[in-house]
Parts: sequence; C-alpha cells; structure tokens
Amino acid sequence: MINPHPGLPELQYVKPASLVEASKFLAEHENTAKPFSGGTDSFVRLRDGVLKLDYLVDVKGLDGTNELSFDPQKGLTIGAAVTMNRVAAHPDVIKHYPNLAEAATSVASYQLRNRATIIGNICNASPAGDTIGTCMVMDGVLRVHGLDGIYSVPLNAFFLAPGRTVLKPGDVVVSITLPVPQEGFIGTYKKLGRNMIGDLSIVGVTVMGYPCNESPSGYRFRIALASVAPVPFEALKAEAALAEKNITEDLIAEAAKVAMESVTPIDDVRGSARYRKFMVRNLTREALTEVWKKLNK
Ligand SMILES: Cc1cc2nc3c(=O)[nH]c(=O)nc-3n(C[C@H](O)[C@H](O)[C@H](O)COP(=O)(O)OP(=O)(O)OC[C@H]3O[C@@H](n4cnc5c(N)ncnc54)[C@H](O)[C@@H]3O)c2cc1C
Repeated sequence: MINPHPGLPELQYVKPASLVEASKFLAEHENTAKPFSGGTDSFVRLRDGVLKLDYLVDVKGLDGTNELSFDPQKGLTIGAAVTMNRVAAHPDVIKHYPNLAEAATSVASYQLRNRATIIGNICNASPAGDTIGTCMVMDGVLRVHGLDGIYSVPLNAFFLAPGRTVLKPGDVVVSITLPVPQEGFIGTYKKLGRNMIGDLSIVGVTVMGYPCNESPSGYRFRIALASVAPVPFEALKAEAALAEKNITEDLIAEAAKVAMESVTPIDDVRGSARYRKFMVRNLTREALTEVWKKLNK
C-alpha cells in the first residue's frame, strides 16, 4: 500500500571536516553511508525506500567543492556543491559555455535547480541526466578524492550501468573541469519530456559542432544521447559519418539515422522503445541542422 505520509527514515547526518575524513568515513561505512550534494536525488530515493542508509555524508563545504571558475588555459571548473542555477547564471558560463547553461536550465524547475548540482546529476548515473551529454561532448574530466588522494576520471569512462560508476568506496567527486571549448563552436541540447518543464527526458540529444581542419568535411560534430541506453553515451558512428564528407541535408539525415541505430532504449512510463528510437532520429536531425546553420552564418 502507498504510504500516505511519506517521510525520510531515521539516519545520521555526517559533516566531515576534510576530504580525507570524508573518504575515510565513506570507506569504513561502505554499505551504509553515501555522499550527497544537493540531495534532490538522494532524499527522494531514501523517502521511497529504494535507498537504505544509516549515514548521509554532506560533502558541501569540503575543499574545492564550492569552486566555480574559468581559466583561459584550463577551462571551467565546477565544484560538487555548485548548484545548477549558479552554473547557468555565471557570466563565464554564459559567454564560453552557453550550451551548458541551456542543458542546466532544462532540469526540472528553478526551485529544484537551487539545490541540484551538476556533480550530483553525473554521480547519480541516471541514463536521463540532462547535463551529462554536454559535459561529455566537452570532454569533461572529474577530479575525485579517494583513500589514496586525488585522481582524475574522464567523464567518457565514468559510467558502468544505470546508477553505477567507476567510483570506489571512499571516493568523493570534488569537481569537474570542462576544457576551453573549440574555437567557433556551437552547441545545443534537445530534450523531449512529457511536459515543457519539470520532467525527466524521454530522449535527450546533445550536439556540438566546430570548424576542424583535420576532418575531410571541414567540421567536427559531437553527439551525446540520453535516456536511450543503460548509460548516457556518445554516438561515435554518427559523428564519424559527419566528418567524412561535405555536410549536406542528406548527410545530416543519414547521420541522424545512424544515431538512431546506435540506441538500445526500453519501454517505460515515459515512452515506448520504438517511439524513443524515432525521436532520437528526429531530434538529432533537428539539433544537427540548427548547429550547422549557426556555424554557417
Ligand atoms: C522533482 C524532481 C525533478 C527532477 N527533474 C530532473 C530533470 O529534469 N533532469 C535531470 O537530469 N534530473 C532531474 N531530477 C534528478 C535530480 O534533481 C538531478 O539528478 C540532480 O542534478 C541531482 O543533484 P544533487 O546534487 O541533488 O544530487 P544528490 O541527491 O546529492 O546525489 C545524487 C547521487 O550522486 C551521489 N553524489 C552526490 N554528490 C557526490 C559527490 N560529490 N561525490 C560522489 N558522489 C556524489 C550521491 O551519493 C547520489 O547517489 C529531478 C529530481 C526531482 C526530485
């Protein structure tokens, strides 16, 4: 029976004083403690009984987790405690990474984005995470603090399965860095939800394109797909098709079809697998056409 008065189960709130303390505590309580940032995924799962814990470890405030900075050599660094609203409103994000601001503002509502973080979106490892595709096509690299200190993980090698990542017991993601974008790039995120705001995606298509002398087509496109496979991923075959020949409407349509053939969606309450496949094709074509037109303005 559905509980008419849902609430959080009793658990201990832990606020470590340092990353070392956080990693040690999390490793010592491997099956009963988890870190949290905004809590917008964790609290819902705890309330619903899907996640059972004795300790929630608050990693906000630890070294580097509040950083939001742009360096013209290094790129954009977003700490684990930085909310989506902070990211989307930051002048350097708007100037250098407008596609990230677009992806972040596609998440739920303003109220939710006041708590939700990009790092939480990534670490939750949902196939539907709206900001993951943009961070992926921009070659994001995660900075992780573990039992042996700091190490880096490229986002493209982070996801293993729905809800599962390469993180080990004791690991805390401190931040993500997106390198300086390619000169003249254009990016977009197409999200199909059941309504205009506030819903997880049925399909999410991220496209980024930029002039590239090394490609026979003169351009390089990156395409990431969400909600259509166990993990968000890059449609590498479709990207390759767009690098080989001059870009035309037909080639874009062909690449969109190749993207559709790379997905393995499921049927669920949001949409059927068949519908998702066709929407991958349609939205990829739409996103590629939009980016291509802007690149040629
Ligand atoms: C009403 C509602 C609507 C939503 N709509 C959307 C939507 O439209 N699009 C979308 O993508 N998502 C949506 N979500 C999901 C959620 O809001 C996002 O995934 C959000 O970005 C999670 O960030 P958070 O900081 O709140 O994560 P948290 O709940 O704090 O953490 C999420 C997961 O990441 C892990 N984690 C968090 N921080 C760290 C860290 N520093 N190191 C290691 N692991 C960590 C936690 O252990 C947990 O497993 C929605 C959720 C709700 C409740």
